[in-house]
Amino acid sequence: MTDLIRPRGHQDAVAGLARSAREGRLPHALLLSGPDGVGKFRAALWLGATLLCEEAGEAPCGACGSCKRARAASHADLFVVDARAHEQDELTIFFVAHREDRPSTAYQGTSIEDFLGLRAAEGRGKFVVIREAHRLNEVAQNALLKMLEEPRDGVHFFLETATPDALLETVRSRVVEVRLGGLDRETCEAVLFEAGGFDRTDSGQVAEVAGLVRLAGGSPGVALDLHARRAPELALLIGAALAGERAPHDVAADLWEVDGEYRGKTAFVRRRVRAETILDLGLGILADAERCLGGGEVAALRHGSTAESLAASATLASAPDRRRIGRAWLAAREDLRLNLSPEALVDRALASLPR
Ligand SMILES: [Zn+2]
Repeated sequence: MTDLIRPRGHQDAVAGLARSAREGRLPHALLLSGPDGVGKFRAALWLGATLLCEEAGEAPCGACGSCKRARAASHADLFVVDARAHEQDELTIFFVAHREDRPSTAYQGTSIEDFLGLRAAEGRGKFVVIREAHRLNEVAQNALLKMLEEPRDGVHFFLETATPDALLETVRSRVVEVRLGGLDRETCEAVLFEAGGFDRTDSGQVAEVAGLVRLAGGSPGVALDLHARRAPELALLIGAALAGERAPHDVAADLWEVDGEYRGKTAFVRRRVRAETILDLGLGILADAERCLGGGEVAALRHGSTAESLAASATLASAPDRRRIGRAWLAAREDLRLNLSPEALVDRALASLPR
């Protein structure tokens, strides 16, 4: 299991939970909440592997048979519920309960109910990790609720989500929430070097990592995602258009040529994700330029130097212009929810700039 990686920045929190478990005080259902991409899923897997480890310490020993099986994603007592791994957008009832009849497009794998029906293989408990629990639909949540309401000895649920509000109140009342926050800059950079394949000895890559971490504000997962989307490259183009250094029309063409990875099932969804990235970056740069104008410290801003050049440009010289441009970008971002052409919406935002 490639995801069985030390949860940097949350090791103390997870070790504390492991101690509670050793003392028999671990709630049978935990909800790990916190920003996207800070390692909540990793922390949940790590905790499960720790409690299954034959050494019974505060972290997986990594060497025993149980740890090896956990790492290979083949541990019979550690069950991971993950919509995206099965190319599903939603965690439906089929992930939770056993159903004979299921449509061919539905999840066909083992359900939580199937998993719990098996005797614990190694006698150290059974652990269910639910990744992105906000993807559970209402029917699935109600089926899960029944399991949470009748806790069984030795069975633990670890749910993970950035949006706990998406869970039913009844489900939330049955889980104990543990919040995992953003990471400091150094830890975030360390994760990128460790897990992102960046080379610490290459000064260009060191600078790239620093830029990504700044852009992602304490979330290594978001930083890796921004890297895949080539966000720094997009931000430079958008900054040049906003500051009037390049014609918006030319920039618009270049923005769609950047070779990033925008995930989605269809070409339209991938284009929409790209437009989302572009508009979010534009809004971020505009907000940071406002902060510069208000005397904010450039080094503390996600878009530091880009925002600084924009703040000094003629584009933002008048307050009414600033408001008009900001509103246009925000409206385009909101209209992405409608099924409008992503390209047209980016064009519309860029058209708000003075010529
Ligand atoms: Zn072990």
